Amino acid sequence: MTTTRRIKRIFIEAGAEDYDMTRRVLARLPGVPVEVIPHREVLRPRAGTPAAWIDAAKSTLLLAVQKGPFWRPCPGTRDYICCGYQVLQVGLNCPLDCTYCVLQGYLNIPAITLFVNVEDLLAELDRGWAADPHKVWRLGTGEFGDSLALDDLSGLNARLLPFFARQPRAVLEIKTKWHRLEPLLSLGPNSQVIFAWSLNPPEIIREAERGAATLKARLEAASRAAAAGFRLAFHFDPLIYFPGWEDAYQRTVARLGRAVPAGAVAWISLGGLRFLPPMRSLIHQRFPLSRIASYEMVAAPDGKLRYFKDLRIDMYGRMGTWLEKALPGALLYLCMESPRVWRAVWGWAPEGKDLAMLLDGRVLPAGK
Ligand code: SF4
Repeated sequence: MTTTRRIKRIFIEAGAEDYDMTRRVLARLPGVPVEVIPHREVLRPRAGTPAAWIDAAKSTLLLAVQKGPFWRPCPGTRDYICCGYQVLQVGLNCPLDCTYCVLQGYLNIPAITLFVNVEDLLAELDRGWAADPHKVWRLGTGEFGDSLALDDLSGLNARLLPFFARQPRAVLEIKTKWHRLEPLLSLGPNSQVIFAWSLNPPEIIREAERGAATLKARLEAASRAAAAGFRLAFHFDPLIYFPGWEDAYQRTVARLGRAVPAGAVAWISLGGLRFLPPMRSLIHQRFPLSRIASYEMVAAPDGKLRYFKDLRIDMYGRMGTWLEKALPGALLYLCMESPRVWRAVWGWAPEGKDLAMLLDGRVLPAGK
């Protein structure tokens, strides 16, 4: 099933009617009820937690104009090593439904929002690059939703890919758990675009990533992207502990190594499952059979629940060994971890902007 067919209702916020993306979405969803609303606030639920309305939110689309900035630096967290990532907020929420999705705790509108004013986004990017022409920018659209899951509706990536192709010091990371990218393949080769898949073993995908592509489909999509001349990245984030995790992740890493050429991989991140404490009860309410929020976790300095440090270190260390064997030379990094954990895993920790510079080095074409 495509994600498009999951949409059962469309709201258009006043002011968003006269945009190409709005027309495109409506043309691709004939027969789906459409309502123009004066302001998105009228959709805001008056009572109840997101558990009461989030299922409906996954099949409702809100087309709106982004009035704030699209481009936001990833906030990072004190005490943890930051990679200097830049976030493009092109929408909010997604049609997939991962048990652990942190967006569940942030949503206040029962809909998937798509921002239709793409020209404003492109102008903002141009202004940002012009303000600091020597800086390297790593930008991504996958922090507030899936970068690919609604692309057949929005057509956004077909606008962004050629735009980034002209920017030698910027790279766009398309982070996804989806697999349909055929319309974009003809836009390669393009070294300024990195297709990035979030990966987990098949048993976790079945249990905790409802509606997302299978591991097989993600790896096949990655292979097609590499063959079309795009670079790749992978995120084992969240890494999830369960009895037998070693075998499951080792097999997954081996499949990854067989599916893609090591030379196409820009980076691979590792990050243990983490979320703010209220998420635990939200997960139990929405997914009563899920075991992933039941394992022991402790409150970390950033207020999030995480696995015990020794378990995280063990998981990262083993994953690192398996990944180095499967994809020799790939740049591995830990997402949102402390210098102590870095040192325990790999014997060193990046200081200051070291990690950002390492990743930036993967963005620049050779010799720049
Ligand atoms: S794909 Fe990402 S944004 Fe979508 S539900 Fe899963 S974790 Fe959340």
